[in-house]
Amino acid sequence: MTDAPLRKPVITLTAGPVQGYSEVLQAMARPLGYDYDPWFLGFYEAVAKKCAQALRWPEPALIVQAEPAVAIEAAAASVIGRRDVVLNLASGVYGKGFGYWSARYHKEMVEIEVPYDEAIDPAAVAAALQARPDISVVSVVHHDTPSGTINPLVEIGEVVHAHGAVLIVDAVSSFGGMDIHPADCHADVFITGPGKCLGGTPGVTFVAVSDKAWQKMEANPDCPFASILSLKDWKNAWRRDQPFPFTPSVAEISGLDAAIDLYLEEGPQAVWARHALTAAACRAGIKALGCELWAAREAIASPTTTSVKVPEALSDDAIIEIARQRYGVMLSIGRGETLHKLIRIGHMGPTAEPVYALVAVAALGGALKALGFPAKLGAGLEAAQAVIDAARG
Ligand SMILES: *Cc1c(COP(=O)(O)O)cnc(C)c1O
Repeated sequence: MTDAPLRKPVITLTAGPVQGYSEVLQAMARPLGYDYDPWFLGFYEAVAKKCAQALRWPEPALIVQAEPAVAIEAAAASVIGRRDVVLNLASGVYGKGFGYWSARYHKEMVEIEVPYDEAIDPAAVAAALQARPDISVVSVVHHDTPSGTINPLVEIGEVVHAHGAVLIVDAVSSFGGMDIHPADCHADVFITGPGKCLGGTPGVTFVAVSDKAWQKMEANPDCPFASILSLKDWKNAWRRDQPFPFTPSVAEISGLDAAIDLYLEEGPQAVWARHALTAAACRAGIKALGCELWAAREAIASPTTTSVKVPEALSDDAIIEIARQRYGVMLSIGRGETLHKLIRIGHMGPTAEPVYALVAVAALGGALKALGFPAKLGAGLEAAQAVIDAARG
Protein backbone atom coordinates (compact mmCIF):
# COMPACT_ATOMS: atom_id res chain seq x y z
CA MET A 1 0.00 0.00 0.00
CA THR A 2 2.75 2.42 0.99
CA ASP A 3 6.41 2.16 1.84
CA ALA A 4 6.23 4.79 4.57
CA PRO A 5 7.83 3.61 7.81
CA LEU A 6 5.37 1.83 10.03
CA ARG A 7 4.22 4.15 12.76
CA LYS A 8 2.71 3.08 16.02
CA PRO A 9 -1.07 2.84 16.11
CA VAL A 10 -2.82 5.91 17.51
CA ILE A 11 -5.57 3.82 19.07
CA THR A 12 -5.53 0.07 19.67
CA LEU A 13 -9.05 -1.35 19.49
CA THR A 14 -8.09 -5.02 19.41
CA ALA A 15 -9.66 -7.95 21.20
CA GLY A 16 -6.59 -8.36 23.44
CA PRO A 17 -3.93 -7.65 24.37
CA VAL A 18 -5.39 -4.23 24.96
CA GLN A 19 -4.18 -0.73 25.43
CA GLY A 20 -3.44 -0.91 29.19
CA TYR A 21 -4.41 1.73 31.72
CA SER A 22 -1.57 4.14 32.45
CA GLU A 23 -1.92 3.36 36.18
CA VAL A 24 -1.11 -0.28 35.40
CA LEU A 25 1.94 0.64 33.37
CA GLN A 26 3.14 2.99 36.09
CA ALA A 27 2.69 0.29 38.72
CA MET A 28 4.84 -2.05 36.67
CA ALA A 29 7.63 0.50 36.81
CA ARG A 30 7.78 0.23 40.63
CA PRO A 31 11.18 -1.01 41.84
CA LEU A 32 11.58 -4.77 41.48
CA GLY A 33 12.01 -6.34 44.88
CA TYR A 34 13.41 -9.67 45.98
CA ASP A 35 10.55 -12.16 45.98
CA TYR A 36 11.34 -13.25 49.56
CA ASP A 37 11.51 -9.71 50.86
CA PRO A 38 8.93 -9.59 53.69
CA TRP A 39 7.31 -6.59 52.03
CA PHE A 40 6.84 -8.48 48.78
CA LEU A 41 5.44 -11.53 50.58
CA GLY A 42 2.81 -9.37 52.23
CA PHE A 43 2.09 -7.59 48.98
CA TYR A 44 1.68 -10.88 47.11
CA GLU A 45 -0.80 -12.11 49.71
CA ALA A 46 -2.72 -8.84 49.50
CA VAL A 47 -2.92 -9.05 45.68
CA ALA A 48 -4.18 -12.66 45.85
CA LYS A 49 -6.90 -11.50 48.27
CA LYS A 50 -7.74 -8.47 46.15
CA CYS A 51 -8.20 -10.71 43.11
CA ALA A 52 -10.50 -12.87 45.24
CA GLN A 53 -12.51 -9.79 46.17
CA ALA A 54 -12.98 -8.96 42.49
CA LEU A 55 -13.89 -12.60 41.79
CA ARG A 56 -16.24 -12.64 44.82
CA TRP A 57 -14.49 -15.81 45.87
CA PRO A 58 -13.92 -16.82 49.51
CA GLU A 59 -10.31 -18.00 49.09
CA PRO A 60 -7.31 -15.97 47.85
CA ALA A 61 -6.96 -16.35 44.10
CA LEU A 62 -4.31 -18.61 42.65
CA ILE A 63 -1.94 -16.42 40.66
CA VAL A 64 -0.34 -18.23 37.73
CA GLN A 65 2.97 -16.71 36.64
CA ALA A 66 2.26 -16.76 32.93
CA GLU A 67 -0.28 -15.66 30.39
CA PRO A 68 -3.73 -17.27 30.57
CA ALA A 69 -3.12 -19.86 27.85
CA VAL A 70 -0.53 -21.47 30.15
CA ALA A 71 -3.00 -21.49 33.04
CA ILE A 72 -5.67 -23.13 30.88
CA GLU A 73 -3.22 -25.78 29.74
CA ALA A 74 -2.18 -26.20 33.39
CA ALA A 75 -5.82 -26.71 34.39
CA ALA A 76 -6.08 -29.51 31.82
CA ALA A 77 -2.82 -31.08 33.04
CA SER A 78 -3.65 -30.76 36.74
CA VAL A 79 -7.33 -31.71 36.80
CA ILE A 80 -7.65 -34.29 34.03
CA GLY A 81 -6.24 -37.77 34.55
CA ARG A 82 -6.22 -41.10 32.78
CA ARG A 83 -9.56 -42.15 34.28
CA ASP A 84 -11.47 -39.02 33.25
CA VAL A 85 -14.18 -38.70 30.66
CA VAL A 86 -14.26 -35.06 29.59
CA LEU A 87 -17.15 -33.16 28.04
CA ASN A 88 -15.64 -30.37 25.95
CA LEU A 89 -17.88 -27.54 24.78
CA ALA A 90 -16.62 -25.88 21.62
CA SER A 91 -18.27 -22.80 20.18
CA GLY A 92 -15.02 -21.36 18.90
CA VAL A 93 -11.28 -21.67 18.52
CA TYR A 94 -10.46 -21.61 22.25
CA GLY A 95 -13.17 -24.12 23.14
CA LYS A 96 -11.95 -26.46 20.43
CA GLY A 97 -8.36 -25.92 21.52
CA PHE A 98 -9.02 -27.07 25.07
CA GLY A 99 -9.95 -30.47 23.66
CA TYR A 100 -6.46 -30.83 22.17
CA TRP A 101 -4.87 -30.17 25.56
CA SER A 102 -7.34 -32.49 27.26
CA ALA A 103 -6.44 -35.25 24.80
CA ARG A 104 -2.98 -35.57 26.37
CA TYR A 105 -4.48 -36.56 29.72
CA HIS A 106 -8.03 -37.89 29.45
CA LYS A 107 -9.38 -41.40 28.98
CA GLU A 108 -12.07 -40.23 26.61
CA MET A 109 -13.67 -37.04 25.40
CA VAL A 110 -17.21 -36.24 24.38
CA GLU A 111 -17.50 -32.99 22.48
CA ILE A 112 -20.37 -30.68 21.68
CA GLU A 113 -19.33 -28.42 18.85
CA VAL A 114 -21.55 -25.75 17.33
CA PRO A 115 -20.86 -23.42 14.39
CA TYR A 116 -18.50 -20.66 15.50
CA ASP A 117 -21.14 -17.95 15.16
CA GLU A 118 -23.41 -19.85 17.58
CA ALA A 119 -23.57 -20.62 21.31
CA ILE A 120 -23.73 -23.88 23.28
CA ASP A 121 -27.27 -24.93 24.22
CA PRO A 122 -27.52 -25.87 27.94
CA ALA A 123 -30.15 -28.49 27.03
CA ALA A 124 -27.58 -30.21 24.80
CA VAL A 125 -25.15 -30.21 27.73
CA ALA A 126 -27.80 -31.76 29.97
CA ALA A 127 -28.52 -34.42 27.35
CA ALA A 128 -24.82 -35.25 26.94
CA LEU A 129 -24.38 -35.59 30.70
CA GLN A 130 -27.46 -37.77 30.97
CA ALA A 131 -26.19 -40.03 28.18
CA ARG A 132 -22.78 -40.35 29.85
CA PRO A 133 -23.05 -40.38 33.64
CA ASP A 134 -19.32 -41.12 33.74
CA ILE A 135 -18.37 -37.64 32.51
CA SER A 136 -16.18 -36.27 35.30
CA VAL A 137 -14.89 -32.98 33.86
CA VAL A 138 -16.62 -30.34 31.72
CA SER A 139 -14.80 -27.51 29.99
CA VAL A 140 -16.32 -24.34 28.57
CA VAL A 141 -15.14 -20.96 27.28
CA HIS A 142 -17.41 -18.11 28.33
CA HIS A 143 -16.50 -15.66 25.58
CA ASP A 144 -14.79 -17.36 22.66
CA THR A 145 -12.87 -14.29 21.59
CA PRO A 146 -12.02 -15.25 17.97
CA SER A 147 -15.80 -15.37 17.39
CA GLY A 148 -16.93 -12.60 19.73
CA THR A 149 -19.74 -14.79 21.02
CA ILE A 150 -20.90 -15.59 24.56
CA ASN A 151 -22.04 -18.94 25.91
CA PRO A 152 -24.88 -19.13 28.47
CA LEU A 153 -22.45 -19.94 31.25
CA VAL A 154 -24.79 -19.58 34.22
CA GLU A 155 -27.27 -22.06 32.72
CA ILE A 156 -24.48 -24.44 31.68
CA GLY A 157 -23.04 -24.21 35.19
CA GLU A 158 -26.40 -25.20 36.72
CA VAL A 159 -26.57 -28.30 34.55
CA VAL A 160 -22.98 -29.35 35.28
CA HIS A 161 -23.43 -28.71 38.99
CA ALA A 162 -26.50 -30.96 39.09
CA HIS A 163 -24.47 -33.69 37.41
CA GLY A 164 -21.51 -33.27 39.75
CA ALA A 165 -18.62 -32.98 37.27
CA VAL A 166 -15.73 -30.57 37.79
CA LEU A 167 -16.31 -27.46 35.67
CA ILE A 168 -13.33 -25.66 34.09
CA VAL A 169 -14.20 -22.19 32.80
CA ASP A 170 -12.11 -19.94 30.55
CA ALA A 171 -13.39 -16.49 31.42
CA VAL A 172 -10.27 -14.71 30.22
CA SER A 173 -12.02 -12.22 27.95
CA SER A 174 -15.32 -11.85 29.81
CA PHE A 175 -14.46 -11.42 33.50
CA GLY A 176 -14.26 -7.75 34.37
CA GLY A 177 -16.22 -6.76 31.28
CA MET A 178 -19.54 -8.26 32.27
CA ASP A 179 -21.38 -9.62 35.28
CA ILE A 180 -19.83 -13.05 35.78
CA HIS A 181 -18.07 -14.62 38.75
CA PRO A 182 -17.05 -18.20 39.52
CA ALA A 183 -19.84 -18.76 42.07
CA ASP A 184 -22.47 -17.50 39.58
CA CYS A 185 -21.74 -20.44 37.30
CA HIS A 186 -20.61 -23.10 39.82
CA ALA A 187 -17.12 -23.04 38.31
CA ASP A 188 -14.49 -25.24 39.96
CA VAL A 189 -11.58 -23.74 38.05
CA PHE A 190 -12.32 -20.22 36.79
CA ILE A 191 -9.47 -18.74 34.80
CA THR A 192 -9.04 -15.09 33.96
CA GLY A 193 -6.35 -12.46 33.64
CA PRO A 194 -5.74 -8.73 33.58
CA GLY A 195 -4.81 -8.50 29.89
CA LYS A 196 -8.32 -8.16 28.50
CA CYS A 197 -11.23 -6.42 30.23
CA LEU A 198 -9.21 -5.24 33.22
CA GLY A 199 -6.89 -3.18 31.02
CA GLY A 200 -3.72 -4.81 32.32
CA THR A 201 -0.97 -6.84 30.70
CA PRO A 202 -1.25 -10.37 29.33
CA GLY A 203 1.64 -11.92 31.28
CA VAL A 204 -0.12 -13.17 34.39
CA THR A 205 -3.31 -15.06 35.28
CA PHE A 206 -5.52 -15.41 38.33
CA VAL A 207 -7.74 -18.35 39.03
CA ALA A 208 -10.51 -19.27 41.45
CA VAL A 209 -10.23 -22.93 42.43
CA SER A 210 -12.95 -24.76 44.40
CA ASP A 211 -12.28 -27.33 47.14
CA LYS A 212 -13.74 -29.92 44.83
CA ALA A 213 -11.16 -29.09 42.16
CA TRP A 214 -8.31 -29.17 44.68
CA GLN A 215 -9.48 -32.61 45.82
CA LYS A 216 -9.64 -33.74 42.21
CA MET A 217 -6.04 -32.61 41.66
CA GLU A 218 -4.90 -34.30 44.88
CA ALA A 219 -6.52 -37.53 43.74
CA ASN A 220 -5.14 -37.26 40.20
CA PRO A 221 -2.02 -39.45 39.96
CA ASP A 222 -1.11 -37.61 36.75
CA CYS A 223 -1.22 -34.10 38.23
CA PRO A 224 2.23 -32.63 37.48
CA PHE A 225 4.65 -31.67 40.23
CA ALA A 226 7.51 -29.13 40.01
CA SER A 227 6.17 -28.06 36.66
CA ILE A 228 4.93 -24.82 35.12
CA LEU A 229 1.76 -26.80 34.33
CA SER A 230 1.04 -27.65 37.96
CA LEU A 231 -1.67 -25.59 39.63
CA LYS A 232 -1.04 -27.59 42.81
CA ASP A 233 2.50 -26.28 43.18
CA TRP A 234 1.15 -22.75 43.61
CA LYS A 235 -1.83 -23.63 45.80
CA ASN A 236 -0.77 -21.76 48.92
CA ALA A 237 1.83 -19.48 47.37
CA TRP A 238 0.07 -16.48 48.96
CA ARG A 239 0.87 -17.80 52.43
CA ARG A 240 3.93 -16.10 53.80
CA ASP A 241 5.13 -19.30 55.45
CA GLN A 242 5.31 -21.15 52.13
CA PRO A 243 8.18 -20.84 49.70
CA PHE A 244 7.32 -20.00 46.10
CA PRO A 245 7.92 -23.03 43.88
CA PHE A 246 9.51 -20.73 41.30
CA THR A 247 10.12 -16.98 41.06
CA PRO A 248 6.89 -15.01 40.72
CA SER A 249 6.59 -12.34 38.02
CA VAL A 250 7.30 -9.45 40.34
CA ALA A 251 6.46 -6.58 37.97
CA GLU A 252 3.32 -8.31 36.69
CA ILE A 253 2.04 -8.64 40.27
CA SER A 254 2.28 -4.87 40.62
CA GLY A 255 0.41 -4.40 37.34
CA LEU A 256 -2.28 -6.85 38.44
CA ASP A 257 -2.62 -5.00 41.74
CA ALA A 258 -3.22 -1.71 39.93
CA ALA A 259 -5.66 -3.24 37.44
CA ILE A 260 -7.79 -4.74 40.22
CA ASP A 261 -7.68 -1.46 42.17
CA LEU A 262 -9.00 0.43 39.15
CA TYR A 263 -11.79 -2.12 38.68
CA LEU A 264 -12.88 -2.06 42.32
CA GLU A 265 -12.57 1.71 42.67
CA GLU A 266 -14.63 2.48 39.57
CA GLY A 267 -17.15 -0.12 40.68
CA PRO A 268 -17.81 -3.35 38.78
CA GLN A 269 -21.33 -2.28 37.75
CA ALA A 270 -20.01 0.90 36.15
CA VAL A 271 -17.25 -1.02 34.37
CA TRP A 272 -19.68 -3.61 32.97
CA ALA A 273 -22.09 -0.84 31.92
CA ARG A 274 -19.51 0.96 29.81
CA HIS A 275 -18.45 -2.32 28.16
CA ALA A 276 -22.10 -3.08 27.32
CA LEU A 277 -22.83 0.42 26.06
CA THR A 278 -19.71 0.58 23.89
CA ALA A 279 -20.57 -2.76 22.31
CA ALA A 280 -24.23 -1.82 21.78
CA ALA A 281 -23.23 1.46 20.10
CA CYS A 282 -20.68 -0.37 17.99
CA ARG A 283 -23.17 -3.01 16.82
CA ALA A 284 -25.71 -0.34 15.88
CA GLY A 285 -23.06 1.54 13.95
CA ILE A 286 -21.80 -1.55 12.15
CA LYS A 287 -25.30 -2.53 11.03
CA ALA A 288 -26.09 1.01 9.87
CA LEU A 289 -22.84 1.03 7.86
CA GLY A 290 -24.37 -1.82 5.90
CA CYS A 291 -22.19 -4.54 7.41
CA GLU A 292 -23.27 -7.77 9.05
CA LEU A 293 -22.47 -8.87 12.57
CA TRP A 294 -20.74 -12.24 12.81
CA ALA A 295 -22.86 -13.55 15.72
CA ALA A 296 -25.86 -15.55 14.56
CA ARG A 297 -28.01 -13.60 17.01
CA GLU A 298 -27.31 -10.26 18.63
CA ALA A 299 -28.22 -11.77 22.02
CA ILE A 300 -25.00 -13.81 21.94
CA ALA A 301 -22.74 -10.98 20.70
CA SER A 302 -20.15 -10.23 23.36
CA PRO A 303 -20.18 -6.93 25.26
CA THR A 304 -16.39 -7.05 25.12
CA THR A 305 -15.78 -7.70 21.41
CA THR A 306 -17.77 -6.94 18.26
CA SER A 307 -17.15 -9.28 15.34
CA VAL A 308 -18.04 -8.10 11.86
CA LYS A 309 -18.30 -10.31 8.80
CA VAL A 310 -15.78 -9.45 6.11
CA PRO A 311 -17.92 -8.32 3.16
CA GLU A 312 -17.88 -10.62 0.14
CA ALA A 313 -14.79 -10.34 -2.06
CA LEU A 314 -12.93 -8.09 0.37
CA SER A 315 -9.76 -9.04 2.22
CA ASP A 316 -9.55 -8.73 6.00
CA ASP A 317 -5.86 -7.86 5.75
CA ALA A 318 -6.57 -4.98 3.37
CA ILE A 319 -9.28 -3.60 5.65
CA ILE A 320 -7.03 -3.81 8.71
CA GLU A 321 -4.14 -2.21 6.86
CA ILE A 322 -6.14 0.80 5.69
CA ALA A 323 -7.75 1.31 9.10
CA ARG A 324 -4.30 1.34 10.63
CA GLN A 325 -2.34 3.28 8.00
CA ARG A 326 -4.94 5.89 7.22
CA TYR A 327 -6.61 6.35 10.60
CA GLY A 328 -4.06 4.93 13.04
CA VAL A 329 -6.61 2.45 14.40
CA MET A 330 -5.51 -1.13 15.03
CA LEU A 331 -8.29 -3.73 14.80
CA SER A 332 -8.11 -7.52 15.19
CA ILE A 333 -8.51 -10.12 12.50
CA GLY A 334 -9.97 -13.57 13.15
CA ARG A 335 -8.07 -16.59 14.36
CA GLY A 336 -7.99 -20.22 13.27
CA GLU A 337 -11.41 -21.09 11.85
CA THR A 338 -12.55 -17.47 11.87
CA LEU A 339 -9.42 -16.09 10.16
CA HIS A 340 -10.27 -14.07 7.02
CA LYS A 341 -13.98 -14.32 7.83
CA LEU A 342 -14.33 -11.51 10.33
CA ILE A 343 -12.85 -8.32 11.76
CA ARG A 344 -12.93 -7.82 15.51
CA ILE A 345 -13.29 -4.62 17.45
CA GLY A 346 -12.34 -4.98 21.10
CA HIS A 347 -14.17 -3.16 23.88
CA MET A 348 -11.92 -4.04 26.76
CA GLY A 349 -10.64 -2.04 29.71
CA PRO A 350 -9.74 1.50 28.65
CA THR A 351 -11.25 1.05 25.18
CA ALA A 352 -14.63 0.11 26.64
CA GLU A 353 -15.62 3.75 26.30
CA PRO A 354 -18.54 4.55 24.02
CA VAL A 355 -16.60 7.15 22.03
CA TYR A 356 -14.39 4.33 20.74
CA ALA A 357 -17.45 2.83 19.06
CA LEU A 358 -17.48 5.98 16.90
CA VAL A 359 -13.76 5.62 16.25
CA ALA A 360 -14.20 1.99 15.21
CA VAL A 361 -17.15 2.70 12.93
CA ALA A 362 -15.28 5.60 11.32
CA ALA A 363 -12.09 3.62 10.76
CA LEU A 364 -13.81 0.47 9.56
CA GLY A 365 -16.29 2.40 7.41
CA GLY A 366 -13.51 4.48 5.88
CA ALA A 367 -11.43 1.42 5.08
CA LEU A 368 -14.40 -0.36 3.50
CA LYS A 369 -15.18 2.67 1.35
CA ALA A 370 -11.57 2.85 0.25
CA LEU A 371 -11.90 -0.75 -0.94
CA GLY A 372 -15.07 0.00 -2.92
CA PHE A 373 -17.65 -1.27 -0.42
CA PRO A 374 -20.57 1.21 -0.20
CA ALA A 375 -20.34 1.76 3.58
CA LYS A 376 -22.89 4.29 4.83
CA LEU A 377 -20.49 6.14 7.03
CA GLY A 378 -22.82 8.95 8.11
CA ALA A 379 -25.61 6.53 8.98
CA GLY A 380 -23.17 4.33 10.87
CA LEU A 381 -21.87 7.16 13.02
CA GLU A 382 -25.36 8.51 13.67
CA ALA A 383 -26.67 5.11 14.71
CA ALA A 384 -23.76 4.53 17.08
CA GLN A 385 -24.07 7.98 18.59
CA ALA A 386 -27.84 7.60 19.00
CA VAL A 387 -27.26 4.56 21.23
CA ILE A 388 -24.84 6.54 23.38
CA ASP A 389 -27.17 9.53 23.58
CA ALA A 390 -30.14 7.35 24.51
CA ALA A 391 -28.18 5.86 27.38
CA ARG A 392 -26.50 9.02 28.60
CA GLY A 393 -28.67 11.88 27.36
C1 LIG B 1 -6.87 -14.03 25.34
C2 LIG B 1 -7.51 -15.30 25.68
C3 LIG B 1 -6.78 -16.34 26.26
C4 LIG B 1 -5.30 -16.23 26.50
O1 LIG B 1 -4.61 -16.89 25.53
P1 LIG B 1 -3.78 -16.25 24.33
O2 LIG B 1 -4.21 -17.01 23.13
O3 LIG B 1 -2.38 -16.48 24.63
O4 LIG B 1 -4.11 -14.81 24.22
C5 LIG B 1 -7.45 -17.49 26.59
N1 LIG B 1 -8.77 -17.64 26.35
C6 LIG B 1 -9.51 -16.67 25.79
C7 LIG B 1 -10.97 -16.89 25.55
C8 LIG B 1 -8.90 -15.47 25.43
O5 LIG B 1 -9.60 -14.48 24.87
